[in-house]
Amino acid sequence: MMIAGHKVEKGEKITIEIPIARLPTNTDIGLVAHVYRSLHDGPTLLAIGGVHGDEVNGIEIVKRAEKQGMFKNLKIGNVIAVPLLNVFGFINYSREFPGGKDVNRSFPGTKNGSLASRVAYTLTKEILPHVDIALDFHTGGDKIYNYPQARVYSKDPESVRLAEEFAMPHLIKGGLIRRSLRRTAHDMGIPMVVFEGGESQRIDEFSIQEGLKGLKRVLIARGMINGNVEKQESLIINDNAWIRAARSGMFTCTKVAGDTIKKGEVIGSITGPYGNFSYKVKARKDGILFGHNNQPVINKGDALFHVGYE
Ligand SMILES: [Zn+2]
Repeated sequence: MMIAGHKVEKGEKITIEIPIARLPTNTDIGLVAHVYRSLHDGPTLLAIGGVHGDEVNGIEIVKRAEKQGMFKNLKIGNVIAVPLLNVFGFINYSREFPGGKDVNRSFPGTKNGSLASRVAYTLTKEILPHVDIALDFHTGGDKIYNYPQARVYSKDPESVRLAEEFAMPHLIKGGLIRRSLRRTAHDMGIPMVVFEGGESQRIDEFSIQEGLKGLKRVLIARGMINGNVEKQESLIINDNAWIRAARSGMFTCTKVAGDTIKKGEVIGSITGPYGNFSYKVKARKDGILFGHNNQPVINKGDALFHVGYE
């Protein structure tokens, strides 16, 4: 296996650092990949975190899987672990690259583009061609808490299979976002599942544990490691919508991500800071909450709850 000019022999574990660009401070910025090769042929799994620099749970999952030695004794195949793709965002507590560029909207990237585009290009050109299956570990958004979930392209049976092996509490089926990593992987014939869990800039141990268990389940299912992990039935969500704030004020949840909700049920409230009004947020249909907003001060139209429907 030749990755970015580095030869990786069977049975070897090496770190590859692919230079990409320099920051204005002359600091090098690159792509760091840890490559674990077994002695036997088999699938190559990519476990990647930190596509969004502030999504700490995804980074922690990949890092911790490595620390736990999950990839140390592969029976077959290979693992490429990229714990942190967006170094710039990570050190700036930011989702994005300079100029607000989202690497996950910059794929497949260009050689001479912006920093985000170059990082996307490096991953697409140097790493993805070696990959057979991929898990892209994210976290929720800024103040948006996501219950541990797999997101998958509903029309790709191999990605759906991977998501079923991964077995998160929630499995959200949907489309592909233009210029996302998942879209590029799909175009290259690589089944990919996106993990979401917790909220950005906040370590959520529950989400980390779910992500780690899912990763292990996939490795076991593909015959790459021995072991067993408790089985879990995913709740499948085929359709979803946001419940948005009907007015501005202070928001509190009475139901949170992971809860099921019934039509007409009060799931939160919006109140005036002077005690001048109180508004009840109600469920419009029966559903399952897979994300909620932890931002206490909200404006009319802000997303409050992400609701899934079977
Ligand atoms: Zn993300």
